[in-house]
Amino acid sequence: MNSLKLVAVISLISCAVANSQTISPDESIRQLKLGNLRFVEGKSIKPRQNFERIKEVSTGQKPFATIVGCSDSRVPNEIIFDQGLGDLFIVRTAGQVSSYASWGSIEFAEEVLGTKLIVVLGHTACGAVNAAVNLPEVPGHIVTLINAIKPAVEKAKSTQPQDLIDASVRENIKMQVNQLKELEPVLAKRVREGSIKIVGALYHLETGKVEFLEN
Ligand SMILES: [Zn+2]
Repeated sequence: MNSLKLVAVISLISCAVANSQTISPDESIRQLKLGNLRFVEGKSIKPRQNFERIKEVSTGQKPFATIVGCSDSRVPNEIIFDQGLGDLFIVRTAGQVSSYASWGSIEFAEEVLGTKLIVVLGHTACGAVNAAVNLPEVPGHIVTLINAIKPAVEKAKSTQPQDLIDASVRENIKMQVNQLKELEPVLAKRVREGSIKIVGALYHLETGKVEFLEN
């Protein structure tokens, strides 16, 4: 038994999954779009945030989407998508750069919790991308982030865009989506099977709107 299957078995034994149906990737995208529309229009309903829901998810979780997003404090995922407790499985690092621990978390959400949609969520004016574009040197471990984003900046530069930050933010999301789609042995297999979807999206700091990107 490989380690992921072992995790799955342990999880099933120790923690019953919350009572909700698995929904398709397209339906998940629809729910996120609807939630973001409510947020942008000032009509957030803050669903599933009451005590009843706390009790309901205390014995298990079945989030309907995984968000791989930037740590930026201005992009709080449950708020911008108007979702509640147990709805979103979220992995956040600056510039939504992924590495082994992130990949394991994403695979866990997919294999064990049954999440069928993964959204790589970047945002406008991302500080990590800005640093990769403009700063020749950064201290400490920040260099890990910058090095991961630089290929996207170089690709964006080659298109001679009017706005290099915006083009780099978009290219970074696109490359991260492709990276996850090709990530063996779990995600790439699921993508080939067509059982999961991995998409990119861009949060606009100025408007609160999430733009889903074509990949
Ligand atoms: Zn950011």
